[in-house]
Amino acid sequence: RKLGIALVGLGYYSANLLAPALQETKNCRLAGIVTGTPSKATEWMQKYNIPKANVYDYKNFDRIADNKDIDVVYVVLPNSMHAEYVIRAAQAGKHVICEKPMAIYPKECQAMIDACKKANKQLAIGYRLHYEPFTKEIMRLGQEKVFGAVKFIESSDGFRSGDPTQWRLKKSMAGGGPLMDVGIYAVQGTRYVTGEEPISVTAQFAPKTDPVKFKDVEETMFWQFEFPGGAVSNSTTSYASGVERLYASCEKGWFELSPAFGYGPLKGRTSKGPIEMPVVNHQAAHMDGVCKDLLDGKQLPDHVTGAEGLRDTKLLQAIYQAAETGRKINLKA
Ligand code: NAD
Repeated sequence: RKLGIALVGLGYYSANLLAPALQETKNCRLAGIVTGTPSKATEWMQKYNIPKANVYDYKNFDRIADNKDIDVVYVVLPNSMHAEYVIRAAQAGKHVICEKPMAIYPKECQAMIDACKKANKQLAIGYRLHYEPFTKEIMRLGQEKVFGAVKFIESSDGFRSGDPTQWRLKKSMAGGGPLMDVGIYAVQGTRYVTGEEPISVTAQFAPKTDPVKFKDVEETMFWQFEFPGGAVSNSTTSYASGVERLYASCEKGWFELSPAFGYGPLKGRTSKGPIEMPVVNHQAAHMDGVCKDLLDGKQLPDHVTGAEGLRDTKLLQAIYQAAETGRKINLKA
C-alpha cells in the first residue's frame, strides 16, 4: 500500500520538487492538496489526477480529518505558518511532515511535538539529506572517526536571493534571513559530521551590502561552534552570493562535500580520493524513507523528527543571540 500525502502550500518546493518526486515514490503518492488559490487547485487536479474531494483550502483544511485517502499532511508553507498547520494536521489525526526550519521559536516546536504526541501521530521534518547517500557517508566518516578525530569543520550554505518582496526577506514570516533558510544546513552539517551537540557558539553579522533589500533580516552571517570532542567549526550563510560546502579536517586526513546541501547530485572527496555513491532523488528518498517506517508501524529515527527540529531551532536562536550580544553563548544544558 502507498500512503496518501496531502501537500499544504503549492509554492516552489511543492510544485517543482515534491510533486514530481511523488510520481516516483514507492511508499507514498500525491493524494491531496491544500491551497488558497483556486486556479492552482484546478491546475493540480488536472495535472496529477487529484479528485475534488481531496482538495482543501486553508479554512476548510480541518475537514481532512474525515478523508481516509490522506494519511500524511506535508506542510510546505512560509516558516511562520508551520506550527499552526502541523498542529491542525495532528488534531485531524494525520501523520505530519513539516518543512525546515521546523518553526521560528523553540516554544512553537514544543507545541508541535506535544500536539503530535497527544494525537498519537508521528512528526517528521523535511530533512531530506538524512536519506541521501553522500550525506550518510559523510556522517559515517566523521562519526566513526575514519580519518581520526575531527579537528575543525568549515560549513557554508548560501545563494543570491531574488525578488525583494518575497516572504523570505520578512522577519515576521521567515524568522530571519539566510540563517533560517539555508543556514540550517550548515548547522546540521557540523552536527552530523561530529555526531555531537555544540557546547558554545559565537556569531557575527556581516555588513549589509544592500541595506534596503535586507532592512528586516541579515544578508550574510558567520558563526563558530565548539564541540565536546574537541572539534571547532566556522560557518557562513548568505543571501548575497552562492556557496555550498562542508569540509572536515581530521587527525589523519580530510573529507568534503561540495556541493553539499542542494538537490544534487552532491559531490564528495577525501584525502584518499573521490567518494562514489549512488545519486538519488532527495525528495523521493526522504518521503519514501519516512513513509516506510510509518507503514511498518516503526518509530521514525530521532534525527529526522520534531526532536531534531527543536534542537536546530534552539541553535538558530542561539546563533542570533550570540551575534546580537557579541558574547559567547554557553549551550551546555
Ligand atoms: P514559496 O514562497 O515558493 O511557497 C510558499 C507557499 O505558501 C505558496 O504557495 C504561497 O501561496 C503559500 N502561502 C500561504 N499563505 C501565505 C502567506 N501568508 N504568505 C506567503 N505565502 C503563503 O516557498 P517555498 O520555497 O516553497 O518554501 C516553503 C517552505 O519549504 C519553507 O519553509 C522553506 O524553508 C521550505 N523549503 C525546503 C526546501 C528543502 O530543500 N527541504 C527547499 C525549499 C523550501
